[in-house]
This record gives sequence, C-alpha cells and structure tokens, in this order.
Amino acid sequence: MVLAEKVSKNFGTNRVLRGISLEVARGQVLCIVGPSGSGKSTFLRCINHLERVDAGRLSIDGELVGYRQKGGKLYEQKLSEAALQRREIGMVFQRFNLFPHLTAMENITLAPIRVKGLSKAKATARANELLARVGLADKGDAYPAHLSGGQQQRVAIARALAMDPKLMLFDEPTSALDPELVGEVLEVMKELAKSGMTMVVVTHEMGFAREVADTLVFMDEGVVVEAGPPRQVLSNPQHGRTKEFLSKVL
Ligand code: ATP
Ligand code: MG
Repeated sequence: MVLAEKVSKNFGTNRVLRGISLEVARGQVLCIVGPSGSGKSTFLRCINHLERVDAGRLSIDGELVGYRQKGGKLYEQKLSEAALQRREIGMVFQRFNLFPHLTAMENITLAPIRVKGLSKAKATARANELLARVGLADKGDAYPAHLSGGQQQRVAIARALAMDPKLMLFDEPTSALDPELVGEVLEVMKELAKSGMTMVVVTHEMGFAREVADTLVFMDEGVVVEAGPPRQVLSNPQHGRTKEFLSKVL
C-alpha cells in the first residue's frame, strides 16, 4: 500500500529525511518512534503530499505520490490532483484538529458533503454511525470546546473516517492529552486496526505499538535506524541509538 524507497527531504541545508525506505502492506499497522526532530512528522506529511519529496520514490498503491503518468511519462501533479489523491488518506494530528465553530456532527459531515457531494441526510447517517463507533453517539451537537481532549480526538478520527480513506496517518494523536484520556483514543485506534485499516502511526505509546503494530520503526536524524516486529525491537534493540532512546521512553 505504502512504499517508500530512499525518500529524502531537505529544508534548506537541513537534511531532514535521508533515504527512508519502508513498506506498509494493506491492512498493516506501522508505528514510528524516534526523538524530536528526527523527521517523523515530515515523513507523514510526505505520504499525503503536504511536503514534496526531494529524492527517492514514495508510492501508494503503486501510484507515485505527487506525480501522474501519461504516455509513459511522469508529470508533476497539479494541486487539484494532489488533493484528489489526498482524499483517500485520513490524517489525525496532535491537536487543533477540529473546526471550533462547528459541532462534532458538522465537523464530520463537512467534507463528505462539500468534497464528495453526499446529501446531508446520507452524510448525517454515516456520521451517526461513526460517532457511535468512536463511543460518542450522544455528542453530535457538541462544539469542540465542550468536549474533552480525548473526545475531540475521537471526533477527529470519525471525521477522517467519514471520507472512507484507504490509509490513516496519525501524528502523535495522544501526546497532547491528559494521561487519563489517552486510553480512550488508543482504544478507538486499536479497533480501527482490528477492522483492517492500513495505518501509519507516529507515537510514543510503546504499549500500543507493542500490541497493535505489525512493524515498529525507530527513526533518528532522518534515517530508519531499526525496524522489525515490535516485540523484537523493544525487547532486543540492535542499535545503540535505539537502546538509548528506549531507555528514556520505556
Ligand atoms: P517531534 O517529535 O518533535 O514532532 P519530528 O520527528 O516529527 O519531531 P519533524 O517535525 O519532522 O520532526 O522535523 C524534522 C526537522 O525538520 C526539524 O529539524 C524541523 O525543524 C525541520 N522542519 C520541519 N518542518 C519544516 C518546515 N516546514 N520548514 C523548515 N524546517 C522544517
Ligand atoms: Mg512531529
């Protein structure tokens, strides 16, 4: 589903991604951990083309992100085409996810109505299903300010799912939450993984990674230092940098 081959990205002279190669098969969960500034968010942003890759190849379902093929040649995508590709990818950030002036229901139905052209009735019915799925069946009329951080993140997940994405990206979705609210969000993500969603999750929640990830990647200074089954990476890290990082977060 996601294939990264020697993906590199610079910001000026700052070489943020230095040849990232990894693969996420359909239905699999890849967790990425690593110190601040190692390029985790940048990599996620490259996947849905919020950032352009400088070198290497990044493809989703065999289609190069940011390019289209015509007559055997590759052309850079127009913005509108990038948006089309991005529609199929859901993303949940650390915070500031929801539109504050819209209710939970309006947040969830906005894109399906405006972008996908769903009728309000259809979008609302689907949103109700999704709200129930994230345990917030009774919160459709609530504004974000009246929801806890954990509830807001669950609405954000429901909103992403409303576009029927084939891939979900999570960028530290629980790290801005009070500790007692982390579990409810992880639980929703766990269910999502169980349902077969393909997911790339940047997280420092090692318990989640251990239980849910098919592959755990440790990134540092723009490279994949180590990758493997989470149990293996967590209990028997091969690299000094991984050991050092894990000793701080475990
Ligand atoms: P954190 O754990 O703190 O979220 P991260 O691993 O997600 O860190 P990134 O946000 O990907 O790290 O940042 C990697 C590097 O790229 C940092 O040095 C950062 O300053 C730089 N960077 C990120 N985005 C930009 C940008 N838009 N312009 C310039 N530099 C950027
Ligand atoms: Mg980040």
